Amino acid sequence: MDAEEAMERLMEGNARFVQGVRKQYDFIARRKELLEGQNPFATILTCSDSRVRPEYIFDANIGEIFNIETAGNVVDAVALGSIEYGVEHLHTPVLMILGHTKCGAVTSCCQLEGELAGNLGDIMKKIEPAALKSQKKIDETIDENMKCVKECILQNSPVVKKAAEEGKVRIVLAKYILETGEVKVLE
Ligand SMILES: [Zn+2]
Repeated sequence: MDAEEAMERLMEGNARFVQGVRKQYDFIARRKELLEGQNPFATILTCSDSRVRPEYIFDANIGEIFNIETAGNVVDAVALGSIEYGVEHLHTPVLMILGHTKCGAVTSCCQLEGELAGNLGDIMKKIEPAALKSQKKIDETIDENMKCVKECILQNSPVVKKAAEEGKVRIVLAKYILETGEVKVLE
């Protein structure tokens, strides 16, 4: 499957989700099929938010999406390694960075006064450059954060950078709209 087809599959699935229609999947047969191995068509980096679930949002079957989830969809070394696994080993033609409206992590970062200690503080520090660039406006920061994450991936993962340059993976920025269930592709 190429990037074009993968995006079509995702967006068709999302259209079903928006309408509240779900495909009937035979999970029992599919589980058996997947014992041979996985062959997902998209690697998706998204927020851990319980309202933003890729398999629901894209009405996808098991074995179709390789997911990486962190609060605020930011990346550290472990997340980058997971993305590389999806791109380099599983050869997904699409790497989607999926932000969402009303993101709690982004909102906290925009409203944060002073510094937050501990591991949550590490997440805030990752979102901070986007927040500062967007004058701490939440909606703008959500979009800017996705762009920063893409840059961070390209800067810190030679594997993904090379795959993108060679046209083996298309990096897509998209935003999930909680209010409607829609996924809007930004770039
Ligand atoms: Zn979020």
